[in-house]
Amino acid sequence: MAERLDPWGTLEVKDYDRLRRVFGIRPFQEVIPKLREAGFEPSLHMRRGILFGHRDFDKVVLEGLRSGGRVAVLTGFMPSGRFHFGHKLTADQLIYYQRTLGLKVFVAIADAEAFAVRRIPRREAVRIGVEEYIANLIALGLDPDETEFYFQTNRGAPYYRLIQLASGRVTAAEMEAIYGDLAPAKVVSALTQVADILHPQLEEYGGYTGVLVPVGVDQDPHLRLTRDIVDRLSGVVRLTRPASTYHKLIRGLDGGKMSSSRPDYTIFLTDPPEVARRKLMRALTGGRATAEEQRRLGGVPEACTVYDLYLYHLVPDDEELARIYRDCRSGALLCGECKRMAAERLLEFLEAHQSKLEEARETAWSLVEPPSF
Ligand code: SF4
Repeated sequence: MAERLDPWGTLEVKDYDRLRRVFGIRPFQEVIPKLREAGFEPSLHMRRGILFGHRDFDKVVLEGLRSGGRVAVLTGFMPSGRFHFGHKLTADQLIYYQRTLGLKVFVAIADAEAFAVRRIPRREAVRIGVEEYIANLIALGLDPDETEFYFQTNRGAPYYRLIQLASGRVTAAEMEAIYGDLAPAKVVSALTQVADILHPQLEEYGGYTGVLVPVGVDQDPHLRLTRDIVDRLSGVVRLTRPASTYHKLIRGLDGGKMSSSRPDYTIFLTDPPEVARRKLMRALTGGRATAEEQRRLGGVPEACTVYDLYLYHLVPDDEELARIYRDCRSGALLCGECKRMAAERLLEFLEAHQSKLEEARETAWSLVEPPSF
C-alpha cells in the first residue's frame, strides 16, 4: 500500500529526509543561497534546518517578488485547543515573511473543520479562534494591519464558489488515495482547505500572484490535492500552483507529539509560569542515568526535548546554541543545570508574552467578524 500522511492524525517522524524523498518534496537548503542573492537573510528556522523542505518556494516567492508580483503567505489554525509552542513555530514564520519579505499574511481560523472533524461546539470554536489564536499571534508580533484574519464559515461567495469548483475536479478514488478516508466531514474539510490556499489569488481577495503555505509535513496532502486541482481548473479560473514549505514538528516533553490534547507534555503560551516550569523540569532529556556517567559519556541533545526548546525557540543566537550543544556532548553540562537554565529563559519569555495578551485579546475581537452561528 502507498505511504500516506494523515493531516488529522498524530504523526511522529523518525526520518524527515526519507519522507521528503517519498513525497517528492525538494530540500529547503537549496533555496537558501537564492534567498541571500535576493537580499534576504534566512530565518532562524531556515538556518537550523527546521524548515527542511519546499515545493516551488523559488518559483512562486523569489521569482514572484523579483518580477514585481504580489505574494501572500497563508496558514490555517484549527480552533480546537490552546495555543502552544508548536503553533508558535508557524507564527514565527509568518512574522518573518511579513517583516523580512514584506508578504501579505492571511490567517484562516478553520472553524468549519473544528466543527466537522473535531466536533467542537461553534461558539467555543469562535472564542478559541479569537482569544487563543488571533490574540497570541498579535502578542507575538504579527502586524494586524498587514494581516487578514478570517473564519472559514464567514468568507463569502467567491471562496465558496472555489469549493464547489474544486469538488468537480477530483474523484472519490483520488481523495481516498491521498487521505485514505472518505468521511464526508473530511472530504468537505479538505476541499475547504483548497479554497483557503487558493482564494487570495481571486480579485475579490486581493488578486495575489502567488501564495506560500508554511506547514508541518503532515499537512502535505492538502497541498498535493490543491496543486492537482489548480491544473484541472485551467481554463475555468486563472490560478497558479501554491508554494509550500515544510517544517519538522517540535516534540512534546515526553518525546511524543506536542498537542493541545496532551497538556502534560505541551507548553502553552498561556500556561502560568510555575506550571510551565514544573512541566519543563519533568521533561525527557538525552541525559545519562547518573551524573558520573554523563560527565564521562556526555548527553545526546538530538534525543532531548529541552534541547528542542532551545533549538526552536529559546536561544536565538547560533553561537550560544552551538556552545550548549558542545557542552552537552562533552559532559561539561549536566541536565539539572541545563533544565534550570531553560526554565529561566522560558519563564522570562512567558511573562513578557502574557503581559501583552490582554490587550491583544481586545484587539483580536475587533479584527474579525465572528460567524453568526
Ligand atoms: S544537558 Fe541539556 S541538552 Fe544535554 S541532554 Fe541534558 S537537558 Fe538535554
